[in-house]
Order: sequence, then structure tokens, then C-alpha cells
Amino acid sequence: MAGASVKVAVRVRPFNARETSQDAKCVVSMQGNTTCEIKTSRVTLFFSMEDPQFASQQQVYRDIGEEMLLHAFEGYNVCIFAYGQTGAGKSYTMMGRQEPGQQGIVPQLCEDLFSRVSENQSAQLSYSVEVSYMEIYCERVRDLLNPKSRGSLRVREHPILGPYVQDLSKLAVTSYADIADLMDCGNKARTVAATNMNETSSRSHAVFTIVFTQRCHDQLTGLDSEKVSKISLVDLAGSERADSSGARGMRLKEGANINKSLTTLGKVISALADMQSKKRKSDFIPYRDSVLTWLLKENLGGNSRTAMIAALSPADINYEETLSTLRYADRTK
Ligand code: ADP
Repeated sequence: MAGASVKVAVRVRPFNARETSQDAKCVVSMQGNTTCEIKTSRVTLFFSMEDPQFASQQQVYRDIGEEMLLHAFEGYNVCIFAYGQTGAGKSYTMMGRQEPGQQGIVPQLCEDLFSRVSENQSAQLSYSVEVSYMEIYCERVRDLLNPKSRGSLRVREHPILGPYVQDLSKLAVTSYADIADLMDCGNKARTVAATNMNETSSRSHAVFTIVFTQRCHDQLTGLDSEKVSKISLVDLAGSERADSSGARGMRLKEGANINKSLTTLGKVISALADMQSKKRKSDFIPYRDSVLTWLLKENLGGNSRTAMIAALSPADINYEETLSTLRYADRTK
């Protein structure tokens, strides 16, 4: 994937109980590791996982997470998104489940980060890690690590550091166990609401951020240097269109906000890719059109690496949504 700004992968989950009970047929297949075929439509992606059909959590981490972590060690800001309709496997991909072998990208990446840190730590090299976890729901930001902070937090702009969330908790952690506890609390605090699609449908974006600082002390010159990388791991809200889940009132408003931020994210990523391929500097990138893209500005543009995982249901009953997820992934690459 040399030279490309966004690494796009697809992941197909196994049939769920509902699909099995409806005797659903599998409509998604892969041709090599670049083409995903769905019924008669073909989407060619830059990259998909070697075995995207039922890939294990470990394989997904090896294919996507580890590479992004290595970029962070090199000093890049990195961002991993999971995109797809509700129930397609975004949360499973990002967070996973507690049972052994079922952990998603976020816990595996954190564990790997600390194991590499403890291997490399020395008199010359030291590290610090800070985490935050927020939820963006209807363009408002909530702190998932401080459940007492009711209501939404203000999004502001620092003249040098760029957009940030005022008063968002940033907690220093020194071990994987610290992070695991925080993730647990944050996940419990996430807003979930039932829709016709799925009982615990997630209508918000969850953004887990790790600020990773590497300090190098040169013993000869006595000088210190510092590399700061921001790693944003994003479980996006369900991409299904509002009308397909029989939405009204508040649900419809949620749907409109979700659509707007997902569309803006797609536009931002493709504008950045376009700019990079034409080696132009001055293109307009619509970061400000959604809170999500505005807050991820530093992770998407400039000195950064991005990966997007399109989570798919294999079943014919989800054909329309699966096709729309693949089209989105195709536009983003
Ligand atoms: P989403 O976040 O896209 O709404 P989830 O990640 O919650 O979807 O997945 C829906 C259900 O399917 C969950 O019970 C999850 O554990 C299960 N699931 C999703 N992907 C897989 C997979 N690749 N292997 C096994 N179970 C999966």
C-alpha cells in the first residue's frame, strides 16, 4: 500500500441468528485480496484482508492494527475507523468481547503498545501515554471517562494545536491494565438505543484516543527531543439510512446527523487523497462540516496514516446496505 493515504479493508462477519433463521444466502465473496464481489457488483479495493471472510481478531490486528501502531512509533498520527451498518461487526472489530481471543483492535493495540514500550525503554528513551474516550452523538461530545460530566463538552480551537474538546478527561496510563479498566468504564457509558435494526444499535461515534509521546535524550549533546503521535480509534455510528429502520422524530434527527458526519468523513478522506495524488497543497478540505472530522483534523490530514475497515454482513437480506458500505469504502480509498 505504498503511497496511498488510506488503507481500506473489508471484513465479513459470520451469519447471525436472525439471518440463519431467515435462511439467508451469502452474497459476498472475495476475488484475490483486492476485489470484493457482491452479487453482480464488483468493488475493487486497494487492500482487503487476506481472508476477510470470518477473519480472526488476531488476523485483523496483524493486518491493520499493528501497521498503524508502527506508524505511531515512527511519529505519525494514525486513525483507524470501522464503518458499516448496525450489526455488521464494527464494535466487535474495534473493541471485541472480553473472552480470550475475542479482543478487538483497541485492546490488542494497547497491549502491543505497552509491550513494545517495555522492550525499548532505556536511559535514552522514555515514553508517556495518555488516553481519552469520547462519544459524538448528534454533533455533541460526551466524555466517556467521566460519567459524572453530564451534558456535552465544548469544541474549541487552539491556535497552534488545532481543534480540541474543552475539559475532556485525559488520563495518564502506565500499563495495559490501566487502559483496560478505562475502556471497560467507557464502553459501559456508551449511548445505545434500540432501533428496528438491532436492539443495541449504536447511534453515536465512539472515539478512543491515545496520545503517545516518545522522549529521546542524547547523552553526547545532552539534548532532549520529543515525538508526539495521536492514535484515534473510531467506532462509527451505523451507516444505515434512517428510512430503512422506520425512524421518526428524534431517530430521524439522529439519522440526519449520522449521515452528515459520515458523508463529510468520506469527502474529507477523498479530498485528502486527491490532494496527495495531485501533490497540491491548497485544496479546500471540509473538516468543519462535522464535529467528527473537525476533531480528527490532525489525524486525517498532514503527517498521518489512516485505515478504514468496512464491516459487512454476508447475508442477502442486507444486500442494499452492504453495497452502500462497499461504495463508501471504494470512494474513500
Ligand atoms: P456493530 O457495532 O456494527 O453494530 P457488532 O460489532 O455489535 O455490530 O456486532 C453485532 C453482533 O455480531 C455482536 O454480537 C458481535 O459479537 C457479533 N459479531 C460481529 N462480528 C463478528 C465476527 N467477525 N465474528 C463473530 N461474531 C461477530
